[in-house]
Amino acid sequence: MAINTRSQIDAMSFRPASRIASIGVSKILQIGARANAMKREGFPVIILGAGEPDFDTPDNVKEAAKAAIDRGETKYTALDGTPELKKAIAAKFQRENGVDYTLDEITVATGAKQILFNAFMASIDPGDEVIIPTPYWTSYSDIVEICGGVPVLIPCDAEVGFRLRADQLEKAITPRTRWVLLNSPSNPSGAAYSEADYRPLIEVLLHHRHVWLMVDDMYEHIVYDGFKFVTPVAIEPRLKERTLTINGVSKAYAMTGWRIGYAGGPKALIKAMAVIQSQATSCPCSVSQAASVEALNGPQDFLKGRQASFKHRRDLVVSTLNAIPGITCRAPEGAFYTFAGCGGVIGKTTPKGKRIEADSDFTDYLLEDAHVAVVPGSAFGLSPYFRISYATSETELAEALRRISEACSKLQ
Ligand code: PMP
Repeated sequence: MAINTRSQIDAMSFRPASRIASIGVSKILQIGARANAMKREGFPVIILGAGEPDFDTPDNVKEAAKAAIDRGETKYTALDGTPELKKAIAAKFQRENGVDYTLDEITVATGAKQILFNAFMASIDPGDEVIIPTPYWTSYSDIVEICGGVPVLIPCDAEVGFRLRADQLEKAITPRTRWVLLNSPSNPSGAAYSEADYRPLIEVLLHHRHVWLMVDDMYEHIVYDGFKFVTPVAIEPRLKERTLTINGVSKAYAMTGWRIGYAGGPKALIKAMAVIQSQATSCPCSVSQAASVEALNGPQDFLKGRQASFKHRRDLVVSTLNAIPGITCRAPEGAFYTFAGCGGVIGKTTPKGKRIEADSDFTDYLLEDAHVAVVPGSAFGLSPYFRISYATSETELAEALRRISEACSKLQ
């Protein structure tokens, strides 16, 4: 059949919805795709961009998944988590955080990313504001925007330890503020909030009862130098009625592909999030939920060994970067990222005669000249910095750092 009317032609060309107009494909994914394309062309590219541990999922967790399949646990489950998993999560919150959540205050989703999505979808009206300190994990602002909200970005640079201060929070709160979103330890900075860091922020929140707190504790188990992880509700129980405490199995148990995240929060919010989930996925994967029960209830001692290995790599990255003229790197308290300042190379010229104007020029140069893929600070809302993920083998890491040093020494 011939297509000859305007409406038929229009119907064929895709027009994206306005809600995604300002949201591009994640810069991290773009850099990964470029680095992989170069690898396919034969360049020896080392990618320090991945946000996932290079360790394997523990064997006991894999066995639990296999046993669940053999028991026939391959059907839809309860909408926002099996009772077994919710019980394991409640026990985890009790044991590790000293916080009591009942089963109807707990929700499980397809990754912590979906927890964030469900929470914002369930709570944000057009124009509602969400305070997000930068540098931030890029999905935060994108999800807020998809949900019609307004991300209010507050720069928190290396001088303040990449942490939001109480006066900044106080100034950013308006009658439209719905949430403040904190991530400790942080992706991308690795900075974490101690109890003393949290207290002044909590004081501010106690004075603004309309503001809810969302905390992303995803990297809780990856902390160094005896840092004492704490979650805000454990510090101030009065915040519990308006806090969503997010966590997951992806990073601690090297289970990124299993897609299980969870949260504890007030019943009404948890119920509203379930409404969104019921129309999005019906439930998280049954087999992954069984595996996560084992991850949370099973032996935890291997976490220490992994932490020690990450710490070793962190020390290597921090000391090597700090020895490079023009680069400064704060030692992060946790996670497996460093967010190094590259202000000292801005204005310099590469051997090919290109002037480095921004952190993305620097990371482009590292990819092209040194064949090392890292992510510019601009992708996380704060410049001039670059993020290194050190969740990679020590041999590869050492070689990547050697190449970065060499590339920097060639700048004029
Ligand atoms: N929060 C932070 C800070 C993250 O870095 C990530 C993963 N990159 C997530 C949440 C999401 O984790 P997942 O969806 O795998 O549970």
